[in-house]
Amino acid sequence: MIHDFTYLKPGTLQEALSMLSKHKDECKIICGGQSLLIVMRQGLLVTDYLIDIKGLKELSYIAYDEEGLKIGATTTHRTIETSEMIKQKYPVLVAVEKRLASIQVRNWGTIAGNLAHGDSSGDLAPTLIALDAKIKLASFRGNRVVPLEEFYTGLFETAMEKDELVVEVQIPPGRPKTAVAYKKFNLIENDQAIVGVAAAVTVENGGACKEARVVLSNAGVTPIRARSAEMALIGKKLAGPLLVKAGEAASGDADPVSDIHASEDYRRHLIRVLTERMVKQAWGQASHS
Ligand SMILES: Cc1cc2nc3c(=O)[nH]c(=O)nc-3n(C[C@H](O)[C@H](O)[C@H](O)COP(=O)(O)OP(=O)(O)OC[C@H]3O[C@@H](n4cnc5c(N)ncnc54)[C@H](O)[C@@H]3O)c2cc1C
Repeated sequence: MIHDFTYLKPGTLQEALSMLSKHKDECKIICGGQSLLIVMRQGLLVTDYLIDIKGLKELSYIAYDEEGLKIGATTTHRTIETSEMIKQKYPVLVAVEKRLASIQVRNWGTIAGNLAHGDSSGDLAPTLIALDAKIKLASFRGNRVVPLEEFYTGLFETAMEKDELVVEVQIPPGRPKTAVAYKKFNLIENDQAIVGVAAAVTVENGGACKEARVVLSNAGVTPIRARSAEMALIGKKLAGPLLVKAGEAASGDADPVSDIHASEDYRRHLIRVLTERMVKQAWGQASHS
């Protein structure tokens, strides 16, 4: 049962920030409601006020310039999935969105709702961290921009203050000889990841790996950067044993739990395999870009 609350519907971002500032100790933001309503219905979250930002058109946009891609907070998954520009410039994002939830959820759920929910099994956070994304937060006090990598602080916890909301996701322009790949393992098509791995690889002219990011989903309480795997790759040339080493390193960097979906050992095995495959895929695409 959902407990009673007062529903507030701001007409502008400024109005939303003012409401948030006034009710910060007793309110929650709702956008698409795809995740929030589940936890409210389960009685895991009780709030006095709900501030509905879904109608804020000023936060629904996709823009690209020399600074890179900017996606407004209330932009839906489906809008990202069907953006021709994103498909051209950040194909991994479109690929991720196509396998994220059902089309019904994608039609209504938003990028900021997905990221702010702080579920470590989410697909977008690891992909966006591999893309070196930042998140712009706004409050009545002003704005700040945080690397997405630093946004996650614990189980369903983020660096957002009580009076802040996410207004934009920022992704730098694609770099030459760089590619990003993401794959999740799940038993039901388009379900949440049992584990997922994003890999970003930049290749030097000589063919060696110049930079690498390996980011894991559902392998701990937050998205995890597998730094030992990244260190194993940088400066090396692509080879089978190197992929195996990176996979083992990523598996060691992970901190997965055993639950009804998979044991800890099985998750570590999956991380090993997916890291090998995603690094190989990103490396191949980067070499030919
Ligand atoms: C059946 C199902 C399957 C799913 N499968 C996947 C999947 O495969 N992969 C995946 O990554 N996700 C999956 N999801 C999660 C889904 O992507 C999210 O539910 C959705 O994106 C959340 O967006 P929303 O706008 O509905 O957020 P809401 O549910 O409205 O909000 C979610 C949380 O974010 C906060 N919030 C929302 N917007 C803001 C903002 N602008 N600033 C600050 N806080 C904000 C809310 O307060 C709440 O805590 C699934 C969800 C469902 C229901």
